[in-house]
Amino acid sequence: MKCPLCQAPASQEDRPFCSKLCKDRDLLSWINEDYKIPVKDEEQGDKKDD
Ligand SMILES: [Zn+2]
Repeated sequence: MKCPLCQAPASQEDRPFCSKLCKDRDLLSWINEDYKIPVKDEEQGDKKDD
């Protein structure tokens, strides 16, 4: 089994990653994906408060 991030052999402890570093990197990268979702889109266009 190889580390999906750097293709180094996976370690027993951090499978399928080669190290904690890659494990963390992967985790962070998908957390960041989550943050990409735009949330500030609903508050505008609702200014009919006359
Ligand atoms: Zn790696």
